Amino acid sequence: MEMGQCSFVVFFSATIFSLAAVLAASTGDSDPNYIACVDECEKTGCVAAKCFQHCKFSSDGKSIDGPWEEEREKLGEKPAKYHGKWPFRRVFGIQEPVSVALSGLNLAMQFQGWVSFFILVNYKLPLRPDRKTYYEYTGLWHVYAILSMNAWLWSSVFHSRDVDITEKLDYSSAIALLGFSLILAIIRVFSVRTEAARVMVAAPLLAFVTTHILYLNFYQFDYGLNMKVCVAMGVVQILLWAIWAGVTRHPSRWKLWVVVVGGGLAGLLEIYDFPPYKGFVDAHALWHATTVPLSFLWWSFIRDDSEFRTSALIRKIK
Ligand SMILES: [Zn+2]
Repeated sequence: MEMGQCSFVVFFSATIFSLAAVLAASTGDSDPNYIACVDECEKTGCVAAKCFQHCKFSSDGKSIDGPWEEEREKLGEKPAKYHGKWPFRRVFGIQEPVSVALSGLNLAMQFQGWVSFFILVNYKLPLRPDRKTYYEYTGLWHVYAILSMNAWLWSSVFHSRDVDITEKLDYSSAIALLGFSLILAIIRVFSVRTEAARVMVAAPLLAFVTTHILYLNFYQFDYGLNMKVCVAMGVVQILLWAIWAGVTRHPSRWKLWVVVVGGGLAGLLEIYDFPPYKGFVDAHALWHATTVPLSFLWWSFIRDDSEFRTSALIRKIK
């Protein structure tokens, strides 16, 4: 249980620090130079000789934060965040190329994991007389795979170009995935097998998650509220998996441990945020990098689980 206590501490401190980080505004926003320029732009549509279609977009294809950052660099100041974002160097107009590539890689990882799971449960493991899988959670993992691939797709689109619609699609997809993973965690950890009990778990959570997504998209896009909702849903499911990994005799419980502890440590990257190295790799991009091997291990656990449950059920019948 030592490993467990350690990861709890890591996870809780990660959670608290990230909440604090979210509540603090970006330093660049308080730069008097920047405030004056944005003010001028909003009043006249122009800053000195340059005019803009919209004060959030630049006219020359450069990142909106580019000019302020160049000025700061000349003055020997450190990079600053504007509207919660670091200034990045673009590649073919892509705002955060490294995060885009890593989101794409994770999408590929999810797809590979899902296909190998599909082949395992449908073609390699024995089926019930009614041609259904012995594994009781097959359908849930299929839904999880689809929501997950959807979320990583919109993550890469959002990091390519941050505009209102891409941001909403990215956030909504991530919330849907997080909410469904919570339902799945409860059902798997407590081995909820009857249809009625599953509905009792899923219905209130689905209603809550749907309401939350609709609220953000059509009423108010409240970052602070959303962060609280996401952290709460995330903490509960991580705790469920961690506690289960500590008490179960599951043969692949070590994989659960690695994902829980690894995910907690990766969370530290979101706290110890640093500006993009060479304009490309910031803490968030590194976090994206950690999700790739963790996704691989996660699907490997899911496949092991299906084999484990199938052989346990067959042994019971014999
Ligand atoms: Zn991201």
